[in-house]
Amino acid sequence: MEQVEVEKLLRAGEIAARVREEAERLVKPGVPVIEICETVERRIRELGGEPAFPCNVSINQVAAHYTSPIGDESLIPDEGVVKVDIGVHVDGYIADTATTIALSPRYEGLLDAAREALERALEFIKPGTPFKAVSRLIEDVIRRKGYRPIGNLGGHSIGRYRIHAGESIPNSYEPFLPGSFKPGRVYAIEPFATNGKGVAVDAPEVYIYALSQSRLRRRMKDAEKKLLAVIASRYRTLPFTERWLSDVVGDVEQLRRILKRLSKIGMLTSYPVLVEAGRGLVSQFEHTIVVLEKEVLVTTRR
Ligand code: MN
Ligand code: MN
Repeated sequence: MEQVEVEKLLRAGEIAARVREEAERLVKPGVPVIEICETVERRIRELGGEPAFPCNVSINQVAAHYTSPIGDESLIPDEGVVKVDIGVHVDGYIADTATTIALSPRYEGLLDAAREALERALEFIKPGTPFKAVSRLIEDVIRRKGYRPIGNLGGHSIGRYRIHAGESIPNSYEPFLPGSFKPGRVYAIEPFATNGKGVAVDAPEVYIYALSQSRLRRRMKDAEKKLLAVIASRYRTLPFTERWLSDVVGDVEQLRRILKRLSKIGMLTSYPVLVEAGRGLVSQFEHTIVVLEKEVLVTTRR
């Protein structure tokens, strides 16, 4: 990997880490969720980055993929846990990081399980470490603390303008899982812990989309073509949300209709809100690493 690429990854990581810390101070009962999303995204831009995906604020049994829709009236609750997941890119070089805030001290154990799993995994990963050894370590740490890992969520390789570049590092042990941490690659490591079943399932709501990787030529209305062209030029293959497109289609209902239609015909991939199958509370911590020939850099640590 070239030095300029490492520098851009480090810059994205620095911005992400700073905004993550600011977000931790912002999360308090009664605060509108949309205020957190918009502040995080604005701060990323002010610090010289671009959001690599919409700021995710996932509360309690929601594991991931919630971002405020236009006009969101939801508030941070009085009880439970709040996960803030932040993505930053500099020229397509991505940092992906997440933290969990406990709204009362009794959730600290749940937070510790995911936080310690992440710290132990980061100490353990060296160039060449097999993915499955990291999966096993993450699962062991979380179970020993009395919680379950969410087995169908986990770390992933990251590419330029690609938040999920194809490889996965699940949060539970799979003895035949292939793959290892290779020099020159970027990965996100993200343990999720829960007091529920340990499975995330799709909810009906969709707030996050991305341009589909395999697109067929389809007949589209002019308004659909126009929106798709804006998405392709602004976000390439990175995820986006309706809040970011209200300058293109002013009528919210029409914007939602077009997004729904584009995902139905396969032009967009949708990322439904993920909820814990046993309605358990979910904690998550995440850092991004760059694997070099002889060392591993954590780009999103302060
Ligand atoms: Mn993330
Ligand atoms: Mn991630």
